[in-house]
Amino acid sequence: MSELSPETRAVHLPRPPLNGSAPISTPIYQTSGFVFDDPAVFADGMGRPDGAFVYGRLTNPTVRALEEAVSGLEGGSGAIATASGMAAINTVLLALVGQGDHVIAQRALYGGTATMLNELRERFGVSVTYVAEDDPEAVRAAVRPETRLLYLETIANPMTQVADLPAMCAAAREAGVTTVVDNTFASPILCRPIEHGADIVVHSTTKYLGGHTDVLGGVAVFASDATYRKVWRFSVDLGPTADPFAAWLTLRGIQTLHLRMERHCANARFLATRLAAHPAVAAVHWPGLASHPSHETATRLLPAFGGVFSFDLTGGRAAGERFMSAVKLALLAPSLGGVETLILHPATTSHRALSAGELARHGIGEGTVRVAAGIEHPEDLWADFEQALSSS
Ligand SMILES: *Cc1c(COP(=O)(O)O)cnc(C)c1O
Repeated sequence: MSELSPETRAVHLPRPPLNGSAPISTPIYQTSGFVFDDPAVFADGMGRPDGAFVYGRLTNPTVRALEEAVSGLEGGSGAIATASGMAAINTVLLALVGQGDHVIAQRALYGGTATMLNELRERFGVSVTYVAEDDPEAVRAAVRPETRLLYLETIANPMTQVADLPAMCAAAREAGVTTVVDNTFASPILCRPIEHGADIVVHSTTKYLGGHTDVLGGVAVFASDATYRKVWRFSVDLGPTADPFAAWLTLRGIQTLHLRMERHCANARFLATRLAAHPAVAAVHWPGLASHPSHETATRLLPAFGGVFSFDLTGGRAAGERFMSAVKLALLAPSLGGVETLILHPATTSHRALSAGELARHGIGEGTVRVAAGIEHPEDLWADFEQALSSS
């Protein structure tokens, strides 16, 4: 079915066969283990991801349905679903990076990922070179014999830089380096990094794939079957496994992903455009705007520009804080990708680990507000933003 569009594949998810029929919706297999008549089948299932179901830490039919769904959407050979996005990221890092290895990563990284790379550096002597997300020459210059990974994000948080995936993945491939792409902000509806040369795609399914702010999860998708099997064997003993109920909620979310993404992107465009024209706003950071440094890359790679943007008020930090206290419909809350519009203050929340100098290097202002556009009516959101702007 791989010739079908992602929209259609998201609706028609894999379903386990029963005796002559199959459930339309994948059931929740709420069991920790499975019973066997044949000890040889039991033994075989312990050693490979495509044998009989054995034990929930290896996988489970509901979790497997999620793994197949996301692998199918991303064009992978296999996937591992995990309890959170960080669990997927750490499973990949710990499975593939060892003592004394070298990692090349883009400078603008999700906070948890940046912290874990520091941990690997301090505790296991893993060296990390940071590069811009659109600088393949810097990747070529950084490669060493012990370089294992190039780590990128399709759209970065919160300034929404877009990685030049084809050029960056090609630079890594020339050197035999595996590329990992965090595709959380784009979702497979806007971008499928494997099509651009990535080897591994990771997601926080907590965000757009789940889509309803009610479940945590993550997934790692592998272009190569051999890498999938290698990381699967490691993950069985690491234990980051997704829970069947969480997997089921995520599957349910995925079926409407394409409809939600359309509205998230349209609402982000609407709000970003109106804010950019407002006298109290100093700058809007969204790759759909011609003023954004990634606009050209985004136009080349993405059919739409995503549902997250950030902006700075002319009144700086105090004005940003007043705005965040004054919104009524948009919610001041962590996370993104759900149906409700959420806002937060990166300098004191998601990026609090960065020094003032690092914040400035990332372009994050003291008063920068991040907006994750939900799927509400755009005029209702604008009315809320406008009243909050007039009080800031
Ligand atoms: C949220 C997020 C993560 C971490 O995912 P959790 O599900 O919170 O563990 C990783 N990367 C990006 C880009 C995210 O937005």
